[in-house]
Amino acid sequence: MAWILRLVKIGAEGEGPCTDVMEINRPDDLADIATLGLTLAEAKLLLAGVQRKIVAAQARDHAVRRPECPHCDGVCHVKDYRDHAVATLFGQVTLRLPRFRCAACGGIEAGIGWPPHCRSTPELDRIQAHLSALMTYRTAADVLGQLFPVDVGKHHETLRRHALKVGEALGECAVIRPETAASAIVVTLDSTFIRSCAEGGRHLEVRVGNVETASGGRQVFGAVAKTSTPIAELIGRNLDAVGRTEDTALTAFTDGCPGLRRSLADAGVATPPMLDWFHIAMRLQHLKQIAGALSADDPARVAAKAVIVEEVERLHWRIWNGKATDAQISIDRIRAVMHHFQGEPDQRRSTAPSRKLWTALQALDGYLTGQSAWLVDYAERHRAGLRVGTAITEGTANFLVNRRMNKSQQMRWSRRGADLLLQVRCALYNGTLGSGFGQKFQPANDTYPQMAIAA
Ligand SMILES: [Zn+2]
Repeated sequence: MAWILRLVKIGAEGEGPCTDVMEINRPDDLADIATLGLTLAEAKLLLAGVQRKIVAAQARDHAVRRPECPHCDGVCHVKDYRDHAVATLFGQVTLRLPRFRCAACGGIEAGIGWPPHCRSTPELDRIQAHLSALMTYRTAADVLGQLFPVDVGKHHETLRRHALKVGEALGECAVIRPETAASAIVVTLDSTFIRSCAEGGRHLEVRVGNVETASGGRQVFGAVAKTSTPIAELIGRNLDAVGRTEDTALTAFTDGCPGLRRSLADAGVATPPMLDWFHIAMRLQHLKQIAGALSADDPARVAAKAVIVEEVERLHWRIWNGKATDAQISIDRIRAVMHHFQGEPDQRRSTAPSRKLWTALQALDGYLTGQSAWLVDYAERHRAGLRVGTAITEGTANFLVNRRMNKSQQMRWSRRGADLLLQVRCALYNGTLGSGFGQKFQPANDTYPQMAIAA
């Protein structure tokens, strides 16, 4: 069996000429499941064929037009023809397009509204950016080449260039304010690090965060420090995008970094930010794990371990209930019995739990002292149904940055490259990239940060 795919142009004056795109052959029987319907290779050929024919027809129609001169209303004549090679999602097309000259003033007019030096369609750029936001440039190039008849522009460097171009354009978009104002917005700001590709520079600081309204509106944002994306402005844009007005009550959470607090203040968040419970919970969780691993090989150690485990629980309770000033009591009680673990041997692959506990305790002590002004009664907030920390359960930083720019993947980044790709990644999750799929945040999945509370 064979099919001919034929394109027929329908114009105002009825059916126009038709043209054959391709022939598809199939066996007469269904003996082999692999011959059922179109194959991917055929579908790609088909798409590329249709694309070429349609573009050629569009170019022919364009060439018979005689545009009016934009400068003097004179009539334009064809001056000469130029070839334009344009990469599309369905293959590269070459158009022979006229350039026009005004008979009256001599002005040159192309008659097309394309951006200068345009070599690809916006749809291809956007799909390339979309895939690049989710996977490495190489993998994205591979996926694109597997599924679409892209013959040029599938080199990973091209994908990178287009992704960064889209990232740059996103920063220049005007904020679209929602119709309804938000009565309250919670903003969370956090920071993480990625590896730098610059010589001598080991890490780049990345600031990430999210804004949320009570009705479930949510946006994530991020920026690499010291780039053309100022974080305070970015926070402001995101607050506006979820409906901030002068009357909106703003609540902020941070990981405790003074720089982040300054950025929040610069963005117009007047009330002092609270220390995100998520960050405290992570430290307490760490402490609990170490305490549980202490050796209990003699009665004295059994008793000491029981004291420590209990005091770590109490420490958790105290901080959760806004009694962080009493944390010192627990820390002192733990220190008082730690001598029982002197000489505890290092384990096969790591240092002794008692030494780890000592280090973690010192760190927590310093952290609580430094952050005391920003600790609140988390239990009280929780009972009142208020947020105690970051709403994206695994942490915005991990969610936005680490999954694509992960340190463990040995990826190295330029400051600008990481920043612009992060803009694409945020837009993708916010549903503002414009490719119509990929939006993650709906009011329905606006759940309470269970993990942060349970830890
Ligand atoms: Zn003219």
